[in-house]
Amino acid sequence: MSQIAEHLKQVEARISRAASDAGRPSGEIALLAVSKTKPLDAIVEAFEHGQRRFGESYAQEAAAKIDALRQDSRFDAIEWHFIGPLQSNKSRLVAERFDWVQSVDRSKLVERLQQQRPADMPALNVCLQINISGESSKSGMTEAAIFELAAEVAACDRLCLRGLMAIPEHTDDLTRLGEQMARMQQLFTRLKADYPQIDTLSMGMTEDLEPAIHHGSTMVRVGTAIFGARDYS
Ligand SMILES: *Cc1c(COP(=O)(O)O)cnc(C)c1O
Repeated sequence: MSQIAEHLKQVEARISRAASDAGRPSGEIALLAVSKTKPLDAIVEAFEHGQRRFGESYAQEAAAKIDALRQDSRFDAIEWHFIGPLQSNKSRLVAERFDWVQSVDRSKLVERLQQQRPADMPALNVCLQINISGESSKSGMTEAAIFELAAEVAACDRLCLRGLMAIPEHTDDLTRLGEQMARMQQLFTRLKADYPQIDTLSMGMTEDLEPAIHHGSTMVRVGTAIFGARDYS
């Protein structure tokens, strides 16, 4: 078996175990394979082993990969998620290609994505990114700003509000990490009270997918454990 196939199985086993420990059905948790900085053949290999959701963080790199894979219609089955910080001047690259943007954190970006989403494509799925750790190095909005931006997204016909995304602090302090994840879970529950259609709490990466699943994550974003270490970022 290829290494990527082996790694996918290991990650799926981690998800199943964490779900069962948390008393949740593992079918509730989607796996997003984060392929940023990785070559096309790594994506193709994961696809051939059944992976369909892929996450990318750099608009230009991602656009080039998506356009290359579009040459072969079997890759139309891929669901593309943009998960990196998105500069306003790159929003069109994303609006015209991706199925989801998980890193929406300001009004200007909402306006641009709404204007730029082509009319012949389905509405663009949106998660609001929350800076749950409050670290200045992290993008995302404050908790207080969520409800206003959620209302703006919900009013856009070319966008579909799906939930929240966060990158909790990278720390060995499990109490601190658990506290941040619990706050995300509470915010998600509060937002869902206003928008019952939302279904996505995107939280958990290679190092912290187990506590994320324990705290209600419905989508884990995993790069390193599937594709190996990255040379940059
Ligand atoms: C790179 C990245 C990931 C994947 O991180 P790993 O630690 O390699 O699993 C997940 N989410 C976001 C937003 C990322 O930028």
